[in-house]
Amino acid sequence: MTERVALVTGGIGGLGTEICKHLARSGRKVVAADLGDREERLDEFRHETREFNGHVRFEALNVTDAEACQGLVRKVAAEIGPVDILVNAAGITRDVTLRKMSSDHWRDVLRVNLDGVFNICREVVDSMCDRGFGRIVNISSVNGQTGQFGQTNYSAAKAGIHGFTMALAREVARKGVTVNSVSPGYCRTAMVMSIPENVRNDIIAKIPVGRLGEPSEIARTVNFLTADDAGFITGANISVNGGYFMDF
Ligand code: NAD
Repeated sequence: MTERVALVTGGIGGLGTEICKHLARSGRKVVAADLGDREERLDEFRHETREFNGHVRFEALNVTDAEACQGLVRKVAAEIGPVDILVNAAGITRDVTLRKMSSDHWRDVLRVNLDGVFNICREVVDSMCDRGFGRIVNISSVNGQTGQFGQTNYSAAKAGIHGFTMALAREVARKGVTVNSVSPGYCRTAMVMSIPENVRNDIIAKIPVGRLGEPSEIARTVNFLTADDAGFITGANISVNGGYFMDF
């Protein structure tokens, strides 16, 4: 595969880390962009990606900060090369029923999960179109497809990603740029392991394959969508959920 430049937001998170590793294994020069205040996790990330000898690097970024997104995309272009592959994996949850949801709960989730996608896509899309190549993958969620109790904010943001993805896919389709989303089901990451055990076991009981997904199973899907020869897949959403929710 071509040595392309990949930017992964939420890049040191559970799924983000695995996505960075898969992309690096495919010969990409990878920038993991994530909050700068997670020293302990960053140390682990550096350890987990040490085999890639400088082909995976970390940059601090808050995706809710539009100016910072612009600054980072410019910095990456100047120091490594223009971004060819963008994976939006930054995300947070603030679960609470709507009756108890504060404006902050709502706004925080929308700002990271949806505004963040807008902020960074806007910075890379012109250059991708000018160069005639780009791969954008937005990490949504099964809960954006089905809705989930206590997640009006998160489900709205993740469903919003689907609309955003399809609309942008149409705008850039003639320019060699594809835009797709991946909707993971429940995966074995910190986000899911923080769900109380009894609730988690109830969830697992409803997954046809009978287990949580592995982060690597999401990463391989992202890697597939970002390949040079994946140019005919655009505006698609790929569900990777062990059969938990099936649509067509
Ligand atoms: P995670 O919490 O391990 O990773 C999310 C990452 O986003 C973290 O590293 C966090 O620091 C980063 N982040 C949060 N706010 C940010 C901001 N403002 N700017 C930059 N980075 C920020 O969670 P994960 O399980 O790896 O989830 C990754 C993505 O996959 C998220 O979008 C999540 O909604 C989605 N998802 C996860 C699952 C799952 O089972 N884990 C299922 C469906 C969807």
